Amino acid sequence: MEKLGIAIIGGGPAGLAAGIYAARGGANVKLFEELFPGGQIVKTHRVENYPGFTGGPDGYALAAALEKHAAEFDLPVVYGSVTDLKLTAAEKTFSVNGEAYAADAVILSMGAGPRKLGHPDEDRFVGAGISYCATCDGNFYRGKDVAIVGGGDTAVSDALYLSGLCRKVYLIHRRDQFRAAATLVDRVKGAENVELILDSTVVGLLGEDRLSGIVVENKFTKEQRTLDVSGLFVAVGILPRTELVRGQVDLDEGGFVVTDRFLETSVPGVFAAGDVRDTPLRQVVTACADGAVAATKAIEYIHG
Ligand SMILES: Cc1cc2nc3c(=O)[nH]c(=O)nc-3n(C[C@H](O)[C@H](O)[C@H](O)COP(=O)(O)OP(=O)(O)OC[C@H]3O[C@@H](n4cnc5c(N)ncnc54)[C@H](O)[C@@H]3O)c2cc1C
Repeated sequence: MEKLGIAIIGGGPAGLAAGIYAARGGANVKLFEELFPGGQIVKTHRVENYPGFTGGPDGYALAAALEKHAAEFDLPVVYGSVTDLKLTAAEKTFSVNGEAYAADAVILSMGAGPRKLGHPDEDRFVGAGISYCATCDGNFYRGKDVAIVGGGDTAVSDALYLSGLCRKVYLIHRRDQFRAAATLVDRVKGAENVELILDSTVVGLLGEDRLSGIVVENKFTKEQRTLDVSGLFVAVGILPRTELVRGQVDLDEGGFVVTDRFLETSVPGVFAAGDVRDTPLRQVVTACADGAVAATKAIEYIHG
């Protein structure tokens, strides 16, 4: 079993920032990432609000910059999914690619993923008409008719993004008011090829091998309408990636990891950073800041 000082689980902005601070701080640290460095930011075509990066770099460029920065401090990165995580005050162990590890301190930075619509046929159409990332998949629907479900910033800004690519965009929201920023809502209302369908939910997914349409229902009148769309973008919120730690560290009612102001969880020596925790803002800048705090406190924890 390999013994580490600090194990970082997840290589998004929070994990990479934690890795930069831990490696630069001289810790015996390793970062474990199941897919690719950068996490969710690789799903966005522009990150306009990360301080110091003017001109709105694309998500890949920002992810590459974070990865390069971590490499400058020789942060070891292992690609593979962390499984069998056991977290107690006395012992922290897990497996990756069949290898067993133990660590004195663990930083949880597994991030978050999209909340699903919850329709029984949803999984059948994922990648065959249903997408959770407009900026990743919008281009596949260039010139076509699509729908997007949701009422927050992501749904409304994705509707605007899709309106520049697609022939027609239906924006479906279960309420009559959007939670999104007023400026975004004004812009979407002014977009000629976006039709708002309010107080409505998606009740049917049509098609054999691929999605060919959806059925929406007004929740008050119960009136149903079939929309012939080839794409349905789901933007109804995010879910924390906390399946590994459920029952081991305290989670809030939404399933996010509860931390104190030093980002320590209910288990001594286990810290959480970024979107996975109960933070008031889920952005790159807050994820990086969390990573810095968590790594600094993890180093202090190890040194007693
Ligand atoms: C479409 C989109 C656009 C966005 N635009 C912006 C923007 O413009 N500006 C901004 O500031 N923020 C934006 N965000 C939000 C931003 O991307 C997130 O707040 C940020 O990525 C959170 O970083 P994180 O490191 O906490 O988590 P994540 O980015 O989610 O990274 C978590 C990482 O952990 C890995 N992981 C999970 N479980 C395991 C496991 N068991 N083993 C190993 N690895 C694991 C995942 O593969 C992932 O790489 C956007 C998000 C999306 C989806």
